[in-house]
Amino acid sequence: MSREPNCIFCKIVAAEIPAAVVYEDDAILAFLDVGPLADGHLLVIPREHYARLTDVPPAQCAQVASALPFLGRVVLQVTRAEGFNVLLNEGRVAGQVVPHVHFHVIPRKTNDQLGYRWNAGKYPEGRAAALAAAYQRAIAEHAP
Ligand code: AMP
Ligand code: ZN
Repeated sequence: MSREPNCIFCKIVAAEIPAAVVYEDDAILAFLDVGPLADGHLLVIPREHYARLTDVPPAQCAQVASALPFLGRVVLQVTRAEGFNVLLNEGRVAGQVVPHVHFHVIPRKTNDQLGYRWNAGKYPEGRAAALAAAYQRAIAEHAP
């Protein structure tokens, strides 16, 4: 099991520091975010240390992702939320503070004032086709 000595989430996995763990199995852990954006905000992590999503082997990523429907149902039941956001901040520029990959599950209720400001843009002529072609070339090179 790979771990990083100074990683706060590895310390939670090893039960070296306390956390309100709500679910664990041999591959993942889910616990309450200590700074919740909403009541019941969960973090879901692989036990093994990977800094970023792009570092995680597909099988381990699948183990984390496959718990999301079940944990999502539990979040809805316990918090009485109407929905939730699943969010992963990849890299400091995207807001990642703890460099042990984690999914946020953030309960949402009507008029909860959480909101977000993602202003949708519009592609100029030709840009979407060029991007799609670039993605297809890269995927042909790198897909597992
Ligand atoms: P991110 O900005 O995506 O890296 O999110 C890191 C999250 O980890 C933040 O929402 C913090 O509130 C949360 N967090 C940091 N330390 C702990 C901890 N010891 N226990 C639970 N959540 C934590
Ligand atoms: Zn870690």
